[in-house]
Amino acid sequence: MNSMRDDIKGSDIDCDVVVVGAGFAGIYALWKAGQRGLSVRGFERGSAVGGTWYWNAYPGARCDVASYNYAYFFDSDVVREWDWSDVCSGQDEIRRYLQFVAEKCDVTGQITFDTRVESATYDKATGLWTVRTSGDEAVVCRYLVLAVGALSEPKAPDIEGVESFAGEAYFTSSWPRDRDVDLAGKRVGVIGTGSSGVQSIPEIAKVARDLVVFQRTANFVTPTLSGPMDPERVRAMRQDPEAVRNELRATYGGNQPLYIGPDRFHDLDEAGREKALWRAWEEREVALAFWDSHLPEANAAISEFIRQRMHEQVTDPWTANQLVPWDHPYGGKRPCMSDVYLQAYNRPNVRLVALRETPIERIVPEGIVTSAETVPLDVIVYATGFDAISGPVHALNISGIDGVSMNDAWADGPVNYLGTMVHGFPNLFLPSSAMSPSVLSNMATLAEQQVDFIFDTISWLDAHDRAGLHPSPGSQEFWRDETLRYAKRVPGALSTDSWYNGANIPGKPRHYMVYRGGFNRYHAACYAELESGFKGYELLPGNAGHDQRESA
Ligand code: FAD
Ligand code: NAP
Repeated sequence: MNSMRDDIKGSDIDCDVVVVGAGFAGIYALWKAGQRGLSVRGFERGSAVGGTWYWNAYPGARCDVASYNYAYFFDSDVVREWDWSDVCSGQDEIRRYLQFVAEKCDVTGQITFDTRVESATYDKATGLWTVRTSGDEAVVCRYLVLAVGALSEPKAPDIEGVESFAGEAYFTSSWPRDRDVDLAGKRVGVIGTGSSGVQSIPEIAKVARDLVVFQRTANFVTPTLSGPMDPERVRAMRQDPEAVRNELRATYGGNQPLYIGPDRFHDLDEAGREKALWRAWEEREVALAFWDSHLPEANAAISEFIRQRMHEQVTDPWTANQLVPWDHPYGGKRPCMSDVYLQAYNRPNVRLVALRETPIERIVPEGIVTSAETVPLDVIVYATGFDAISGPVHALNISGIDGVSMNDAWADGPVNYLGTMVHGFPNLFLPSSAMSPSVLSNMATLAEQQVDFIFDTISWLDAHDRAGLHPSPGSQEFWRDETLRYAKRVPGALSTDSWYNGANIPGKPRHYMVYRGGFNRYHAACYAELESGFKGYELLPGNAGHDQRESA
């Protein structure tokens, strides 16, 4: 392997593919490369595989997509040999599952752990990428798969005095894994009430002496799926995993079976709508109470119904009123799921501080100072989220054709085609990233779909004697417009402050980053490109070299 060389020659390839990240997408990409006969190396800044499920080891962390769907389907043995203990499994079980898959697929040996990829530089003359790591390695490859995740770059705390706190401080996004965090009998403050806060608060409430929750924006919270797996469902799934995978790809969210109300909103009278809402609530899919739940009128009815259900679960009227999201419609922000979150506020040791009324002013050695009081604390838990979707890519120093940096190319927000490739950055692939169904789909299904598409693209290049490809600027414009077109159809998607559009990070350009056209439509669009011979891309001739670049 090379050590920080700058004199890369065309033939000095260390491996065909470098994969960065060892979560759902990275593990599968490593395996897939081997299956296609490509040499591959992986880098992961964590000490083990798991990605999201390695880092987010906070109490209460679990998936909210049913585990029998939130899993791989590429290998029948994996499907048949792994048993999930719960419909929505917990963090450690999902982490162990990913470890099991990585070992079974024999990819862990290809990964260099505890190593951050710091930069990636494209050489136009050779058509190769040089990847530089925190371990002082420079690895030259033809294809670069940045499986760095959408929710892997924690948001830096943007509160004055964070460093001055004298007690213990934890982030849900990098919770200690090497030791138990003992919160028993302590005064704990949690900042943030997104999904991570909603999952961790009830667990912390059980052990803390006092728990003070600092909430800026209330979120929708609906019942979660839970309980043992349905053995019939598991049996059916194991009979033909390939068929299940195809079924998942044919759905809107890469996920099934979901209850969808059979009736259209306008075909029902008031009583019928109420009945439909209750039925969907009991089926734990209240957002899909109507066949046409996406209509603004249907969405308004769903939002109002959830607000009422939330309000009645909390005993204290002021607290109930604060916990209900009055300011945005259901789906404008990422909704949360829990059966125990709201009830936690009925405990005598739990108190809500409403930051819209009394904002945090600063953190001091003894605790948190708001405009109304100083809250003394032993522990602060930051459930403050992520620099989502584009954040992990911005954190890398990526330089493409003619030295153009990704950070410049994405200065006004991410641009790409089909959510995976960026003009000016040939053979660089970005699974789980911007403008794919990503965080609004079952991301395990997405990881498999995108990695398949990436390696089918590479196989196509080989078969057609092409050294590489990147999308044309026109394709990127088309995809940006498509993303916006679908986002406009979703009530509140563009008007609500959310990490979907970068509003959670001070100074981040506001740019809607999730493709809401549906997994099925996305999948079809990817493979239509392949079948068309990549008409929306610029193809590099067999011997690489951008000087002879041609447009297809
Ligand atoms: P990740 O799992 O994020 O893995 C990316 C890896 O890349 C990380 O391990 C990171 O350390 C590594 N990395 C990043 N940058 C570098 C670098 N420069 N150098 C080296 N390594 C790097 N999705 C669902 O569909 N259903 C759910 O129920 C669900 N629950 C979630 C719960 C939590 C708490 C969170 C945070 C997310 C959840 N998600 C869920 C989204 C989840 O992120 C995806 O489902 C999925 O795990 C993403 O897999 P990935 O491989 O794309 O990325
Ligand atoms: P998040 O949804 O972005 O929530 C962060 C919370 O911190 C918000 O309530 C935010 O308030 C608050 N916050 C941030 N900075 C603050 C500040 N300076 N002062 C006060 N409050 C501040 O992050 P997350 O909860 O980690 O979840 C991120 C995503 O991960 C989820 O949306 C979901 O996709 C995924 N996830 C899924 C699950 C699951 O159930 N499977 C669990 C956890 C995470 P504002 O809203 O006002 O900014």
